[in-house]
Amino acid sequence: MEITLVQGDITAQRVDAVVNAANSSLLGGGGVDGAIHRRGGPEILEECRKLRASRYARGLPTGQAVATTAGRLPARWVIHTVGPVHSASEDRSELLASCYRESLRVADELGAKSVAFPAISTGIYRWPMDDAARIALEAVRQAGTSVEDVRFVLFDSAAYAVFEARLAG
Ligand code: ADP
Repeated sequence: MEITLVQGDITAQRVDAVVNAANSSLLGGGGVDGAIHRRGGPEILEECRKLRASRYARGLPTGQAVATTAGRLPARWVIHTVGPVHSASEDRSELLASCYRESLRVADELGAKSVAFPAISTGIYRWPMDDAARIALEAVRQAGTSVEDVRFVLFDSAAYAVFEARLAG
């Protein structure tokens, strides 16, 4: 497996699967979630609603992942995963690692060979970037997966630099 870093917008990535930093409602939100639904169009939300009504009446639990169509995005699937909100009093890093592992497990089920990840939980959910990068890279490196190309898409140069340092270290 090759891990690459890209600075940019995750909705522009030509990959088999794009991972969404969703919230448990699966009904959209801000950040990556908002960008994916805006650019991917209503088909994604339509499938999310169906999943909500069938398998996830109480919402998608934190650390789990589920796939939908990618709508108009230049990808085949969106894999929605719910990151943990960062907490100073409780160690939730296992849940954050689980987002990466479960997303790759879903990617394997789909037969996806290339997957783009955002820095899950580092926006609205306030996880410090350096710690999030450490957890993300460790989880992906340790995942037994058939995915060949894992791409981390970092929104700004500061996030990119943090991931670059962790990838090298
Ligand atoms: P969370 O709720 O899991 O914290 P966010 O979407 O708020 O998720 O943020 C996750 C990370 O994604 C943040 O570092 C944010 O800067 C970044 N981000 C926001 N929009 C995009 C985008 N279009 N492409 C890639 N990364 C993005």
